[in-house]
Amino acid sequence: MPVADYTTYCKMLDRARENRFAYPAINVTSLTTANAVLKGLAESRSDGIIQVSTGGGAFASGSSVKDMALGAISIAEHVHRVADRYPVYVALHTDHCQADKLDRFVLPLVAETERRRAAGLPNLFNSHMFDGSALPLKENLDIAVTLLERFRKSELILEIETGVVGGEEDGIKAEASAKLYTTPEDTLEVARRLNGIEDARYLLAATFGNVHGVYKPGHVKLKPSILNDCQEAVVRAYGEQARFDLVFHGGSGSSPSEISEAICYGVVKMNIDTDTQYAFTRAIVHHMLKNYDGVLKLNGEVGNKQAYDPRTYLALAEASMAERVKKAVADLGGTGSTLFAA
Ligand SMILES: [Zn+2]
Repeated sequence: MPVADYTTYCKMLDRARENRFAYPAINVTSLTTANAVLKGLAESRSDGIIQVSTGGGAFASGSSVKDMALGAISIAEHVHRVADRYPVYVALHTDHCQADKLDRFVLPLVAETERRRAAGLPNLFNSHMFDGSALPLKENLDIAVTLLERFRKSELILEIETGVVGGEEDGIKAEASAKLYTTPEDTLEVARRLNGIEDARYLLAATFGNVHGVYKPGHVKLKPSILNDCQEAVVRAYGEQARFDLVFHGGSGSSPSEISEAICYGVVKMNIDTDTQYAFTRAIVHHMLKNYDGVLKLNGEVGNKQAYDPRTYLALAEASMAERVKKAVADLGGTGSTLFAA
């Protein structure tokens, strides 16, 4: 299928909410990892979301260029070209972008979509995240309002975050004192500021003890019930149609019961990076250790060209990551849920 358009993406999100499942949003940094996600989704007969971070975009543009927007465009172009060959829908999203990076990442990507639309072409990305969680709430929402006013004109969905996710992602470390739990007051303010913007749609990552990167069980206390408190408060204040589409960040190592509880409170998108990174690397490690004397030229030997051809181990990594994507889809309750089959 082609990359989902706005109507299809909205249908995907509505369907997840109604049927109590969530889409995995998987970070990719290369053609191979993007292909792994498409393979995993297709084999799960599930639609899903491919996302690119600022660091992923910079990496994809090449180590001499390091242009985060350019690398993200490059990955998105690839997905637009190959998605047709897979029998599922995929949406393209950009991950955490702090305020100081908007000018180098999200805004050039939005401008690119605006250019494409003016030329009668589909959007480049379907949605972008602005991460203002490190800012005071008012500043966070001031920027979010400005973005959403612009996004709605191009059928782009905005994702925002309230509260701070612990741990580290792309070198951004949350302070130990960071506020790991969003409050219903915060999210009421989100609704007050954003819900009046017509023909606009946004996703909310409301933190509930989440930590980026993997953690050992028991290390951090997730409190998914906070999401329920936020939903009940917003529905009480603004009615059923104000119920949030929630995003689960920093969920590596979460238990299946924590995941299903979060979904039950309205999570429709769960970010996945650490677990798929590990699955990708794990397959390469296995290959290298098993073929140690083939991938290296030892003792005057010539090694084994087949063993050190990057395609050999990258294909194994692609397959291993695709399996992890399938597990993510299953954990989130989405196996077999593609709109394409419906
Ligand atoms: Zn986050």
